Amino acid sequence: MADNRIYNFSAGPSMLPVPVLERCASEMLSYKGSGMSVMEMSHRSKVYDGIIKETEACLRRVLSIPENYKVLFLQGGASTQFAAIPMNLMKTGKADYAITGNFANNAYKEAVKFGDIHIAFTSKETGFDHVPTQSELQVRPDADYLYICANNTIFGTEYQYDPETPAGVPLVADMSSNILSKPVDVSKYGVIYAGAQKNMGPAGVTVVIVREDLLGSYPLDKYPVMLDWKTMADKESMYNTPPTYGIYVLGLVLEWVEQMGGVKAMQQRAEKRASLLYDYLDSQDFYKAVAQKASRSHMNVTFRTGSDELDAKFAKESAEAGMTNLKGHRSVGGMRASIYNAMPIEGVEYLLDFMKKFAAENA
Ligand SMILES: *Cc1c(COP(=O)(O)O)cnc(C)c1O
Repeated sequence: MADNRIYNFSAGPSMLPVPVLERCASEMLSYKGSGMSVMEMSHRSKVYDGIIKETEACLRRVLSIPENYKVLFLQGGASTQFAAIPMNLMKTGKADYAITGNFANNAYKEAVKFGDIHIAFTSKETGFDHVPTQSELQVRPDADYLYICANNTIFGTEYQYDPETPAGVPLVADMSSNILSKPVDVSKYGVIYAGAQKNMGPAGVTVVIVREDLLGSYPLDKYPVMLDWKTMADKESMYNTPPTYGIYVLGLVLEWVEQMGGVKAMQQRAEKRASLLYDYLDSQDFYKAVAQKASRSHMNVTFRTGSDELDAKFAKESAEAGMTNLKGHRSVGGMRASIYNAMPIEGVEYLLDFMKKFAAENA
């Protein structure tokens, strides 16, 4: 790693691959002989058209997205989609939500404004320390969709399977914090969406992957056009100015993922990083893992010491040791190590050494 970089365990925005940042730097003043930065380019120019088309093509290759899905590059973050989802999908006014954390709950609260929402599952009583098993998901057969949050960034839990839904009920998944970390069978989902700033690029781009037949099945004329997926799909994400620079960086990240061996390789790397931390957590009793074993996230590892003072000391001393953003989210406390695709294994080994040393000094 470049020697002025530190190990950044931020949950998002988070680390980007160094080769991607270097590419951005080298192309900053003149992108491929155009005499201008990608930031300065008309989104309608031929050269920019090449960038957005290649970014989409690369995402389709990397995630093996079937032909009958549209890919949209939108603004407003994942949180804007919390409203766009019911708006675009609630044909009959009924939808089901699995509430597994803060973001799933925010999505639920937004959906309630649009219709009759059934809670298919919640792990609130146990502090969101797990996701449902298939049999715990209570989905109405006439729901317009089932909503899940595939990886719960704050609590450190992740679905290890693709939930089944009753026939005709599309599955909608927020993959903001685990997209590109493993292969996904897109055909099992009606909609997959993700804010870019965890595992895909800079903040400002949100990717929506939506099955074509879910678009335009009822009129949306009372709603903001910016949230209308059909319009955005028809205009190839160019109804207005798309987040041009963010899409370009996303393209570079996707190119990097491909060069590294694709999402299969990302999965192997993620499993290696996560198991280093979880194996250690399971082998001792100074720290406690927050998430239940079967629900553990490969992207966000949450743990605590059992003492608020020691947790605070950990956050302070780890920062002094050259690591940053290890303090847990305020709603969970303790620590959280976010170990997305761009985190090198050396970063996790360095953290592990620190954890052992800290435990020995403070036990
Ligand atoms: C960060 C995050 C969000 C919120 O994303 P914004 O782009 O800030 O709106 C939503 N869902 C998940 C799973 C996240 O990790």
